[in-house]
Amino acid sequence: MSSIADNIGSVTRRIQKATLQAGREPGAVRLLAVSKTRPAEDLREAAAAGQIAFGENYLQEALDKIEALSDLPDIEWHFIGPIQSNKTRQIASAFDWVHSVDRLKIARRLSEQRAPELGPLNLCLQVNINDEDSKAGCSLDDLPDLAAEIGQLPNLSLRGLMAIPDPDQSEAALRLSFRKLANALSQLKQNFPDAGPLDTLSMGMSGDLEMAVAEGATWVRIGTAIFGARPRKD
Ligand SMILES: *Cc1c(COP(=O)(O)O)cnc(C)c1O
Repeated sequence: MSSIADNIGSVTRRIQKATLQAGREPGAVRLLAVSKTRPAEDLREAAAAGQIAFGENYLQEALDKIEALSDLPDIEWHFIGPIQSNKTRQIASAFDWVHSVDRLKIARRLSEQRAPELGPLNLCLQVNINDEDSKAGCSLDDLPDLAAEIGQLPNLSLRGLMAIPDPDQSEAALRLSFRKLANALSQLKQNFPDAGPLDTLSMGMSGDLEMAVAEGATWVRIGTAIFGARPRKD
């Protein structure tokens, strides 16, 4: 079995190769290690191998790990799971980034509950890019209004868009989904230049990161390829 450090090495090489092939700047794509269901010790091992950014889906589990790893300097915490409105206070104070905001109410609460001295909370809007009934995310049509409103909120920095495309589609359709998200970000940048930096595309997972990088991903969210297969949750 390969170690977490080895896996981070191979994922990093995959990202570098894809970045180069896409003719993009070295370092244009960052690696978010998705550590849901993993014990704090696995994250510690990843951190020792140089990993800085960790993505968590479940709040209580995340808060326990943030506490357990509070001795590590420079760790960046990203919330990437569904957000209930009664959880926003803790998310606003414990995380550096939130990738999974899909409605104004949640953004408003995060902004109100973010302590200004922490600096703005980095935020991505999650888009339901394949219009799946079961999936979180706003529609592409909702984006302009959401960006305009969220751009006004004081303690947030609107960084960009996130999507989890339907994994059961053809490669061509998957690639098109990534491209649609990238186009949506360009449109927002054009139409709402003051809404925030709008410099971020959070897309691509263990199985499809190369395609996502080719289409402009700036964060790839990788779980399995770093930590191994997760036990099924059902
Ligand atoms: C679990 C998860 C990932 C990681 O998926 P892998 O296929 O294990 O790399 C990425 N993004 C989100 C939102 C997730 O929930």
